[in-house]
Amino acid sequence: MSADPDCIFCKIVAGQIPAKKAFEDDELVAFHDIHPWAPVHLLLIPKMHIATLYEVGPQHDALLGHMLGMAPRLMRQLGVLGGFRTLINTGADGRQEVPHLHMHVMGGPRPWLKG
Ligand code: 5GP
Ligand code: ZN
Repeated sequence: MSADPDCIFCKIVAGQIPAKKAFEDDELVAFHDIHPWAPVHLLLIPKMHIATLYEVGPQHDALLGHMLGMAPRLMRQLGVLGGFRTLINTGADGRQEVPHLHMHVMGGPRPWLKG
């Protein structure tokens, strides 16, 4: 599986940097954002290094479906039943800070810090 040795999220996948993981399977990892906007703020990422949504092709359709499908399951498991937001920032104009594809999944009671 492709990894970028300089990528912070690849290091989280490899266990080289600690993270509070909420879920892991063969393809995906979910962990709690270090600066949460909401009572529950997960980052759901593919284990393989894909820098941004621009790098995604038809071969990734199942992976992307898996990511989106996991969002409600994880929120339910964490007791978030009142609603949540999903967000993928892409590239500089999309304000993507970490160049490893990730979906923010944010939920829990209002008010939130942001978003
Ligand atoms: P972006 O702006 O790229 O969509 O979001 C990157 C997110 O990654 C930010 O919300 C930031 O707080 C989070 N983040 C950056 N570095 C780390 C880290 O080392 N650990 C965790 N858990 N979250 C991180
Ligand atoms: Zn990476």
